[in-house]
Amino acid sequence: MADGAGEGQSGDSPWWQDLTPRDIVQRAARGGVALLPLAAIEQHGEHLPLSTDLDIANGLVAAALPRVRADVPVCVLPPLAVGLSLEHTGFAGTLSMSPETALAVLGEMGDSVARAGFRRLVLFNSHGGNKALVDLAALKLRAAHGMLVVRANYFRFALPSGVLDADELRHGLHGGALETSMMLHLVPHAVRREALGDFRSLGVNMAADGCLLGPEGEAGFGWMAQDLHGSGATGNAQGASAALGARLVDHFAARLAQLIDEAHDFDLAQLKPVPR
Ligand SMILES: [Zn+2]
Repeated sequence: MADGAGEGQSGDSPWWQDLTPRDIVQRAARGGVALLPLAAIEQHGEHLPLSTDLDIANGLVAAALPRVRADVPVCVLPPLAVGLSLEHTGFAGTLSMSPETALAVLGEMGDSVARAGFRRLVLFNSHGGNKALVDLAALKLRAAHGMLVVRANYFRFALPSGVLDADELRHGLHGGALETSMMLHLVPHAVRREALGDFRSLGVNMAADGCLLGPEGEAGFGWMAQDLHGSGATGNAQGASAALGARLVDHFAARLAQLIDEAHDFDLAQLKPVPR
């Protein structure tokens, strides 16, 4: 056992910034998986705080870590709290980077992870507006460093059937039953219960009219949050409950833990050399 790496000491911490350079090198050499949580600080209507996506990302990571296989060395980077939230800038309190800045920041975080010797990076995203950013950054980092970069959006993880009704699952994108339930479980004091409502999205009406076109339909369009509902939220927050939140957190955390294990087990020889 290396100096300072005894059980229960800080060298065993899953948090990147608790470690020393030597810890990092050892973790990387054991096929370490770096996990970068990506979130947003943005409006979620009047019933949820600006920190909702960050709270959910942190809550899912904390719930996933104890389920990661014991032989998988994982290092959780400090979350990128602020993301790409242009669609929410019509509401006070939203913080947003430009797409260009966000891509540069994510790229430079990935460069730093690669420089530390890590070849496996999981981008763990909790905000829909960051999806395109995650896709672009993953490809750029793969091309630049030959590393495995996982594009993990928790809200794209499959749910067991019957957990949420199909309409809510499809249209309750923002501050609806899904996010509000997880917040009721993770940070109950942060939910303004008197402001819970049923924020029916424009997308519900367009789908009911049989349109292919919808905000996130078969063919989507660029939208601002106020286009979907004047409150800034979409979905039925009144259908939320702490019990549902506990079930959702448990489910998503199990999937995230499995994904971290799979990133560790992934054969990097499957990523072929890029001619220079
Ligand atoms: Zn959100």
